Amino acid sequence: MDAQFDRVREILRGAASVAVLTGAGVSAESGIATFRDPDGLWAKFSPRELASMDGFLANPERVREWYAYRKTVATTAQPNAGHYALAALEQQTNGSFCLITQNVDRLHQRAGSRNVLEVHGNLIENRCNDCEAIRTDDVLVCPLCSGAMRPNVVWFGEELPQDVFAAAEQAAMTCDVMIVAGTSAEVYPAAGLPYTTKRYGGVVVEVNPNPTALSSEAHYLLTGTSAQILPHLVGDVP
Ligand code: NAD
Ligand code: ZN
Repeated sequence: MDAQFDRVREILRGAASVAVLTGAGVSAESGIATFRDPDGLWAKFSPRELASMDGFLANPERVREWYAYRKTVATTAQPNAGHYALAALEQQTNGSFCLITQNVDRLHQRAGSRNVLEVHGNLIENRCNDCEAIRTDDVLVCPLCSGAMRPNVVWFGEELPQDVFAAAEQAAMTCDVMIVAGTSAEVYPAAGLPYTTKRYGGVVVEVNPNPTALSSEAHYLLTGTSAQILPHLVGDVP
């Protein structure tokens, strides 16, 4: 591997605090479609109809059906080498480690990552629209308050879970290095986290096969897929 890899590996080994930000691209090699790539989900489905409160109110069955489909895809998919490498990186880090993910598929946790912040929620849980109770079964009406149960994901126009995002911002501010993998870096506020790291003096490393909104700002660009690149960073690939 080239000098860039050696340098990034060295930075990771010396870091007292490592943060990682992942997006849909990290799960592409597990067979889960991304959103914004040409063959991604938004090319086939309308975001407004499927991932917004208006869409849910207009046609809850349709929205629930789409999320049930995505949940089946996620639970039958397997973590790939990129997910496993990030779990290994957490184990190897001598200090604090935080994995911030925009993914809702739970593959990081299934690969063994422990300190995971799901800033866009997940496909596994449902949440009451009124009292915010969380359930993992598929009841349609909240047993506590009779509110409508909905997927526990962040929809267009919605706020991110406040405490989770505050922890992500804290990690972005305090990390020595942030790896940004498989995200188009276009969806705010998550896309702002690498800029926070940079502003606070941390190193930003991007892992992506394609240029993104962040590429010109990152200190290191490792071009390739996450399953190809990430294992090289944890040192179990020569
Ligand atoms: P995105 O679809 O906007 O961008 C995907 C990025 O991944 C692109 O930059 C692309 O170049 C890159 N990519 C494609 N294949 C890759 C690979 N093999 N390895 C590494 N990178 C690869 O995704 P995003 O930035 O995460 O968009 C954010 C929204 O998409 C989030 O809200 C998230 O909840 C949602 N989403 C999640 C999943 C999932 O959980 N797996 C799937 C689709 C969308
Ligand atoms: Zn309720």
